[in-house]
Amino acid sequence: MDCVYCGSDLSAYDPVYVEETADGERVEVGGFCNYACLSAHIEASELVYGDACEWSPE
Ligand SMILES: [Zn+2]
Repeated sequence: MDCVYCGSDLSAYDPVYVEETADGERVEVGGFCNYACLSAHIEASELVYGDACEWSPE
């Protein structure tokens, strides 16, 4: 398995696995090589889905 964000081989890291709940079902999002990649992926997702998010930079 590769890091969702940067594509590195997770066998070289202590990976962080993420699951989401969608329509009551647990869906595995994937693995990240560390929390830096996880947070970067979340920030990228917030940029993509920003219109539907209540988060504000102010
Ligand atoms: Zn990564």
